[in-house]
Amino acid sequence: QGLRIDGKAAAAELLEQVKEDVQAVVKHGVLPTLAVILVGDDPASDVYVRNKVRAAENVGIRSLEYRLPASTSEAELLQRVKDLNADASVHGILVQMPVPKHISEAAVIQAIDPRKDVDGFHKENVGALSQGQDTLVPCTPAGCMLLLRKVLGQDGLRGLHAVVVGRSNIVGKPMAALLLQADCSVTVLHSRSKDASALCRQADIVIAAVGRPAIIGADWIKPGAVVIDVGINRISTLEGKTRLVGDVDYDAVAPIARAITPVPGGVGPMTIAGLMANTVKAARMQAGM
Ligand code: NAD
Repeated sequence: QGLRIDGKAAAAELLEQVKEDVQAVVKHGVLPTLAVILVGDDPASDVYVRNKVRAAENVGIRSLEYRLPASTSEAELLQRVKDLNADASVHGILVQMPVPKHISEAAVIQAIDPRKDVDGFHKENVGALSQGQDTLVPCTPAGCMLLLRKVLGQDGLRGLHAVVVGRSNIVGKPMAALLLQADCSVTVLHSRSKDASALCRQADIVIAAVGRPAIIGADWIKPGAVVIDVGINRISTLEGKTRLVGDVDYDAVAPIARAITPVPGGVGPMTIAGLMANTVKAARMQAGM
């Protein structure tokens, strides 16, 4: 049976570190501040925003919450972002996605000052990441890297073959860039890939970021591989309830994997912790520390 990677414990550890970093920055007279904007009243987004605000409070980061009606125009939202860009007391800006259909997600992301882009989605940060520069990196893939280093050691990824399943801008692509930077050989699979399971079976490291419940079974995994499951899928149970499952068939894969993240309790907690880490990092950079 493979090691069950405890994302909750790893996230708690990271948050403890962030808390210390916040205190150090505060000693220099800077109070790290995160502005979170939510447009509309999507219930899932509402939960995400509340969790982020609570996490910020717990580590001593000041948070500003802006809840705007679904009718907010793109121009109004962009103006809000501009105001926060100009406010030197704000170090991180996050617009909770998805935004209502009449607003361009890309326009919103590009409007955020790259130095305050704690999600790491701005083109400037994406470019810096792909060039291997130190920058604000998307929180979910950054969290996956921390988990991998916990299992494999700081330099333990070097030379390994990593397969990333999924090529989204928020997970798959930045994940591939980070793995490349850690000296992995990287393969990216997606919905058009031929023989995906056979390619995946060659991997020493598998990152699943597809969004389909249990699509990755034991026949996708080489015995001894380390498996990181990013997927969060809500499925209905026979009892008429819902529960969360990953993209990996945990019960089938855990017996052959060297280590594997559960869902929930794996990558999820690392994402929020990563956001807090990015906010302090942004504050330090803006203060010239
Ligand atoms: P997305 O829909 O943007 O991208 C999914 C990717 O999967 C696409 O690139 C697509 O080509 C690929 N794909 C689809 N079907 C495939 C198949 N049969 N074989 C191989 N590849 C296939 O999704 P996303 O935003 O990257 O999110 C992926 C999953 O991760 C979702 O379940 C999402 O909820 C979850 N997620 C979790 C966290 C977290 O904090 N743990 C953060 C972000 C996303």
